[in-house]
Amino acid sequence: MTNTNELLDAMRSETLALEGGAPVITHEFPRYNSLGKEEQDAVQKVMESGVLSQFLGCWHDDFYGGSKVQAFEAQCAEYFGVKHAITVNSWTSGLIAAVGALDIEPGDEIIVTPWTMCASATAILHWNAIPVFADIDPKTFNLDPESVRRNISEKTRAIMAVDIFGQSADMDALRAIADEFNLKIISDTAQAPAAQYKGKWAGTLGDIGGYSLNYHKHIHTGEGGVVVTNDDALAERVRLIRNHAEAVLPDREAMPINNMLGYNFRLGEIECAIGIEQLKKLNGLVESRRALAERLAAGICELPGLSVPYVADGNTHVYYVFPLLVDPDITGVSKFEIAEALKAEGVILATQYQNLHLLPMYQQKTAYGSSGFPWSADFTRQDISYEKGICPVAEDMNDRTYLGFGMCTYDLTESDVDLIIRAFHKVWAHKVEMSR
Ligand SMILES: *Cc1c(COP(=O)(O)O)cnc(C)c1O
Repeated sequence: MTNTNELLDAMRSETLALEGGAPVITHEFPRYNSLGKEEQDAVQKVMESGVLSQFLGCWHDDFYGGSKVQAFEAQCAEYFGVKHAITVNSWTSGLIAAVGALDIEPGDEIIVTPWTMCASATAILHWNAIPVFADIDPKTFNLDPESVRRNISEKTRAIMAVDIFGQSADMDALRAIADEFNLKIISDTAQAPAAQYKGKWAGTLGDIGGYSLNYHKHIHTGEGGVVVTNDDALAERVRLIRNHAEAVLPDREAMPINNMLGYNFRLGEIECAIGIEQLKKLNGLVESRRALAERLAAGICELPGLSVPYVADGNTHVYYVFPLLVDPDITGVSKFEIAEALKAEGVILATQYQNLHLLPMYQQKTAYGSSGFPWSADFTRQDISYEKGICPVAEDMNDRTYLGFGMCTYDLTESDVDLIIRAFHKVWAHKVEMSR
């Protein structure tokens, strides 16, 4: 590969697309697509069987779903090396069931990152428990264990560890804190299936965890999710919440009934038939994302003021998103100007991710009804803060430094990645070098 200085020299003579020059990339990247003939055939067989879902919401042989549901669950359990894998109709549903399964009481607090998809936090609110936002590590974008520690109160019961963008949170550090304060850990590994932490699968290192199977993730079933745990009691409580718990309990041996408010979170036979095929492809899809991401990182890592994804010791990264950090003190131009120039060259970057605490729902503490419940309730600690400033690292990233490229958005070839590398050099040759 050409070195950075040679490529910058070559790009200096070209005109930025933003200023009327020819863009580096002239074709649209095709959408990432993990589906093929195998999934089509599997769907066809389920259609022919006429059984699209076999769940029954009462204590019966069919309480645990049909043959594809059970086969897919067994294969997920084997792949991830866990005792239990439980399918759900979305990972949002899985998160709600996981929080409920943990014996959470109204007013209990769960520490979560603001740098995540909104459902990580709303799953907590669904049980009238309170999300408390801790800040993130500036290199991995995952929960900063020291900030978690600072946010622990007498009401804290659990930590929601999100494995954001494709690499695991610092599970040893979080486990040490959880053990010290007798907390549970929920892993939201929606974005990091098949990522490893010290040789183990991300998602399996908490008390309960799981993966999303929505259309945007590495592998998908349209909509869907999988909960994983090694804890028999938690697994059974998730299965109950999935399928109308309150109606099923009276016909079973005595079980605790707290949080046995059920839903219909059942995933269908067609989705599970697709999931069985998708799971076989997971390793290969993740490997190809990783190879492309490493090529991209190697190609742009020497550009001044730009940091490519950091992979923590002991982690493998599966690059759901390829996160970049711009240091505007070095580049002299804002990340927004850089993103605008890159977009004109054909590279689309997100200029923001999430700062959940700044959403109107948290700012106004308005969730159930309009009276401020559950924050206004007697059972809630009254000094919960969602003010701007509570997560300075996450806030600064959104305001000044973060840019994200969706590795799971496009089907890219190596030559596409090389064009993206050229586009970055072109923008740097004009925007950054002139500004210095
Ligand atoms: C996608 C995602 C979810 C929600 O998954 P769904 O299957 O869409 O409900 C939750 N958390 C994170 C971090 C996600 O990326």
